[in-house]
Amino acid sequence: MDAALSTLHPDLWINGSWTATEETFAVQDPATGETLAEVADASPEQALAALAAATEAAPGWAAAPPRERAEVLRRAYELIVADEDRLARCMTLEMGKPLTESRGEVSYGAEFFRWYAEEAVRSTGQYGRSPDGKRTLVTVKKPVGPAYAITPWNFPLAMATRKIAPALAAGCPIILKPAAETPLTSLLLMDILAEAGVPAGVVNCVTTSDAAAQSAALMADPRLRKVTFTGSTEVGRTLLHQAADQVLNVSMELGGNAPFIVLADADLPASIEGAMTAKMRNIGEACISANRFLVHESVAEEFTAGMTEAMGNLKPGHGLEEGSTLGPLIDDEARDRIHGWVHEAVRAGGQLHCGGEIPSGPGHFYPATVLSGISAEMTLAKREIFGPVVAIQTFDDADEAVALANDSEHGLSAYIYGRDGSVLQVAERLESGMVGVNTGLISDPAAPFGGVKQSGLGREGARDGIEAFLETTYLALTW
Ligand code: NAD
Repeated sequence: MDAALSTLHPDLWINGSWTATEETFAVQDPATGETLAEVADASPEQALAALAAATEAAPGWAAAPPRERAEVLRRAYELIVADEDRLARCMTLEMGKPLTESRGEVSYGAEFFRWYAEEAVRSTGQYGRSPDGKRTLVTVKKPVGPAYAITPWNFPLAMATRKIAPALAAGCPIILKPAAETPLTSLLLMDILAEAGVPAGVVNCVTTSDAAAQSAALMADPRLRKVTFTGSTEVGRTLLHQAADQVLNVSMELGGNAPFIVLADADLPASIEGAMTAKMRNIGEACISANRFLVHESVAEEFTAGMTEAMGNLKPGHGLEEGSTLGPLIDDEARDRIHGWVHEAVRAGGQLHCGGEIPSGPGHFYPATVLSGISAEMTLAKREIFGPVVAIQTFDDADEAVALANDSEHGLSAYIYGRDGSVLQVAERLESGMVGVNTGLISDPAAPFGGVKQSGLGREGARDGIEAFLETTYLALTW
C-alpha cells in the first residue's frame, strides 16, 4: 500500500467514530487499474444512523459561539495545508491528475476553511424601522439544519471542502457522500477535521456504491433539511424531484459546456496559454473546462496550430511520475465515449490535428487531441467532453459568437479573449454564471461559483456559499 494511504480508515465516519460494514467496494488507480483500497459500503440504515448523529449534534453546533466555530475552521485550514503531501498523493492515486495539480487542489480546497473561518463571525442580520414607523424589523440568520452533501470524483478534496466549510461556518451539521470512484481523500479529511476539533456528529462520511438508495432514504427523512449536490445535470434533476417531497433547501452545482471565445484582436499567445489552462486543468475533467472553442475566422489557423503544438507537448504518464502532465481518464467508459465523439466528428468532416488514437497499455489514458472544422450539431459541441480534446469552431462576427456560445442548455462558465472594449460587451451577453475575460482561471473561494440554466441553482464560495446554509427569520417588534 502507498505510504499516503497507510493511516487510511476505509470505514464509515459516523458520530465521531469509525464504523465497519460487512460489504465493501474497491477503489482503483485509474492509471494502472490496481486496487488501492476496499472501502466500506454503507447501507441506507447506516446513512440514517449518520443523520441521527447529525440531528443530535445540530443544536449544540448551532449554539456554539461563531468565534469558536471559526477557530475550528481555521485549525482545519492549517492542518490541511500541513498535510499537503499526503492529501495530494492520495488524490493523484485515486483520481489520476498530475501531482502538481493535486497540490494545487490542496491549496484551493484548504482555502475554503480559511475563507469561511473569516465569514463565520460576520452576521448579516438586519435591524431597522418599518416604512410606516410603527414597528422595528429585525432579521436573524439561523442554520438551515442537517445537510447532505453529494460530491463528484473529479476534485476529491475541494468539492467536499467547498460544502463542509460553509456548512460548519453557518452552524449546520453535514453528512458527506463522496463519489465511489474517489472516496479516499474524504476519508483522510475526516481524521483531519476531528483533530481540528469538529465535535462528534457534526461531520459524517458515508461511502457507498449505491448512491441512489442512500440518497432516497436520506432525502425522504424529515430530519434532513438540505441537500447540496455537485455532479451531472442528469443526477441533479433526479435529486430535485426527490427534494420536492420534503421541500428541502437545495444547492445544485451541475454540468457545463463552456465556450472559449477568441475574438479577432485577441493576443494569440495569451489566448493559447489561457486555453490550455481552461481546457487541460484536471485532464479536461472539470465542469468549467473549455468545451467549445469559438475562434474568429481570421485567427483560426494560427490558434489551431498553437493549440496543436501546446497539446502535443503534454506528457502522458502516471500522475506521480516526475514530469507527467497528462494523467488517465477516470474509467474506460469515459474514454470510449470521448473516442466515439472524436471519430463521429472526423466522419462528419472535422480535421484531426493530433491525438485521436487510444494508446495500448494499462490505465484509461487518452491522448491530447485537437480537431478543427467542428460544427454546432456535432456531439463534441453539444455534450460535456470531460477529457483532453480541443474542438475548434469558427465564427464571422461577435453576434454569431454570442449566438453559438449561448446555444446550450448549460450556462456554468465561459471564457473570452480580446483586446478592445468590445470584449466586455460580448462577455456581458453570455448566458453564464461565470465568465473569464482574458483569463483561463476563474475558480476562487472568495468568488461565487455556480451556473445559470441547467448548470445549477445557487452559488458556492464567497458570502453566497454560507448564505446557502442559512435561513432568515424575521421578528416584528412593537413596544
Ligand atoms: P455524477 O452526477 O454521475 O455523480 C456525482 C455524485 O452523485 C457521485 O457522488 C455519485 O455517486 C452520485 N450519484 C449518482 N447517481 C445518484 C443518484 N441517483 N442519487 C444520488 N446520488 C447519485 O457526476 P460525476 O460523473 O461524478 O461528475 C461529473 C459531473 O459533475 C460533470 O457533469 C461535471 O460537470 C459535474 N461537476 C460540476 C461541478 C460544479 O461545480 N458545477 C463541479 C464538478 C463536477
